[in-house]
Amino acid sequence: MSNITNEKVLHYIDELYRPSNKMLSNLRIAAEKRDIPIMTRDAEMMMESIIRMSRPKMVLELGTAIGYSAIFFAATDPNLTITTLEISDKMVDEAIANIQEAGFSERIDVQKGDAAELLTKITQKFDLIFIDAAKGHYKQFFNQCLNLAKPGTIIVSDNILYKGITACDSFLESRRNKTIMRRMREYLTYITHLDGVQTSVLPVGDGIAISIIK
Ligand code: SAH
Ligand code: MG
Repeated sequence: MSNITNEKVLHYIDELYRPSNKMLSNLRIAAEKRDIPIMTRDAEMMMESIIRMSRPKMVLELGTAIGYSAIFFAATDPNLTITTLEISDKMVDEAIANIQEAGFSERIDVQKGDAAELLTKITQKFDLIFIDAAKGHYKQFFNQCLNLAKPGTIIVSDNILYKGITACDSFLESRRNKTIMRRMREYLTYITHLDGVQTSVLPVGDGIAISIIK
């Protein structure tokens, strides 16, 4: 549950959501039951708009989990291929199984390991990069991703408002959250002030930042 928008507004928007297909719909329900933090319905709608507007060919994702978002991207546009990075062995196994079931094994490459480490070995350029792993490391991830970007590349950072905690101290409950809050504030200041990059910070889902390389 998010503190970002009014609950009633969020509920209303969720009611407007239509899943892309039955497989994704089942996968979403299964993920939500297990508290796996897949993209929220409203964030998914926005990501679909971004994909249809920008028509990326090469997509990079940090944080695969069970493969929901990767399958969603692949289902949205038949011309894109995805490289997705995941640190958990268990998640990687589940993601590969789900991607196979969806029939996208040819277009989605799941790489197992710490994104920070894997990114040092990747050399191709991407059109769209989705940062959705390890909130404390976003600044490092972003800087690494800049090497894999070119003019026009869109870098989307998910969960940047972190249940509203990033913006409001009053949502704070634990020391761990305090560290995430501090790091996330630092990150948003960084990506909104960086030369050569334009960033919008949006209260969609758990907070999404859209950065475009000029
Ligand atoms: N993008 C997915 C959700 C990802 S949840 C979706 O919307 O469907 C975040 C994932 O990031 C978790 O599965 C977690 O294991 C993974 N993760 C956390 N730290 C990581 C790291 N340093 N490198 C790669 N993956 C990481
Ligand atoms: Mg997320």
